[in-house]
Amino acid sequence: MSTADIGLIGLAVMGSNLALNIAEKGYTIAVHNRSSGRIDEFVAEAKKEGLDGKTIAKYELADFVAAVKRPRSIIIMVKAGQPVDDMIEQLLPHLEQGDAIIECGNSLFTDTQRRFDYLKPKGIGYLGVGVSGGEEGARHGPSIMVGGSKAQWHNAEPVLTAIAAKFNGEPCVAYLGEGGAGHFVKTIHNGIEYGDMQMIAEVYGVMRDGLGMNPTACAEVFKAWNKGPLNSYLIEITGHVLAAVDEPTGKPLVELILDKAGQKGTGVWSAIAAQQMGVPATAIEGAVAARSISSRKDERVAAEGIYGKPSRAKTDVTLADLEKALLAGKIVSYAQGFAVIAKASEENGWNLPLATIAKIWRAGCIIRSRFLDQMSAAYEKGGNANLLVVPDFVAIMKDSHPSLRKVVAAAAVGEFPMICLSAALSYFDSYRQAQGTANLIQGQRDFFGAHGFEIVGRGSDLHGTWPSTLGK
Ligand code: NDP
Repeated sequence: MSTADIGLIGLAVMGSNLALNIAEKGYTIAVHNRSSGRIDEFVAEAKKEGLDGKTIAKYELADFVAAVKRPRSIIIMVKAGQPVDDMIEQLLPHLEQGDAIIECGNSLFTDTQRRFDYLKPKGIGYLGVGVSGGEEGARHGPSIMVGGSKAQWHNAEPVLTAIAAKFNGEPCVAYLGEGGAGHFVKTIHNGIEYGDMQMIAEVYGVMRDGLGMNPTACAEVFKAWNKGPLNSYLIEITGHVLAAVDEPTGKPLVELILDKAGQKGTGVWSAIAAQQMGVPATAIEGAVAARSISSRKDERVAAEGIYGKPSRAKTDVTLADLEKALLAGKIVSYAQGFAVIAKASEENGWNLPLATIAKIWRAGCIIRSRFLDQMSAAYEKGGNANLLVVPDFVAIMKDSHPSLRKVVAAAAVGEFPMICLSAALSYFDSYRQAQGTANLIQGQRDFFGAHGFEIVGRGSDLHGTWPSTLGK
């Protein structure tokens, strides 16, 4: 008998937590996993949490599908990539017209679009859903970015709304657009997350090496900043990470962790999407590059041997400057990320609602912050303009960009790497100047390639008379 409101395949960290969250909200959920061991573990966990009455574990795929009420909503939470395609193929013979697959992993949005297009003529709905918040979010309330088949979204909407994080009672879930829209927005969320994390790390570098602060002192600063305009999950956890002590040695844990950052791909996807659409997203690109440089530890050690230790010239930047620099950098980074979203929306006809996206990121996800509440309010008033020209943020930027300038200048003199914050400053300076220097670029392009240039009042596709440099 079909008694489950929804089904879920993939009982690793994310899937099992999501399933428990759904069961806890009173919905009956059928679960399945490729290997049976994880099903057994899930059954034991559900029992421990008193949720076994709301969970139906099935070891055979056909039995699992049959256990879900029609029209079926089946969540897939397996490893991103080929496993998702494999899972779709295995499910297809068991599904009926009107059923939907809801893929909640970190999939590349173009893959999601392809799967959506593949399933549409078969009458099977496909939802590509970005879920942010990690393990904790999946269990107690993630931010949920939905894209794909709108009709089938309405079938799953009550369940996904019930499990989503809440900000002032408002659920952090929204249907954003057709095809790959949900996964695209999740990708840019992760790109912005990369930027936030990198800028925080750069400021920590100045505290540690420029101001001579130990991790405990740094932790106190982040704790204080979390009460101000930077209030956010990432600032909060930074305080905890800096305060943590390694039990065996009694030393600050952060000082023992190797300075090599990992990445799984969503930052790179964000940077590629931005470049492909011609939208500058230098803060995200900088953050991705910084992780790549960090991973080349051996090369960095060798290069320091050649150039000597960085001077770390004494800096007169204050903690207040660092706080404001972070805020200014963050505004630029979000301006870039949202500009990428706006452009993708235009190119794909997604009609992505920027204010809603800022709203559903206010709780549950990794970049949740007070700042996003301000952003959603600003976008509600100001349409889709670049954040740098939205009045509420203009005021903050005018107040904070001098500090960003001071910090980046001190970093240059003191030999502190600041890939992300300096990229943010350069973007700001490029964006806010009426007269740039691309006139020279156009002259060069015309010189070697006859690409033409424009002179106001005389027309475009004009050419210069250039001396020949051949044979010189
Ligand atoms: P993993 O990405 O580690 O994937 C493991 C799950 O995928 C297991 O259930 C595994 O089954 C299943 N699987 C792998 N290959 C296949 C296959 N060919 N056919 C069927 N099932 C397969 O799990 P996570 O829970 O960490 O993540 C799930 C998704 O959520 C991923 O896309 C991830 O990127 C995304 N995500 C993860 C977050 C996190 O914090 N971990 C945060 C946000 C999103 P088996 O047990 O049989 O091996």
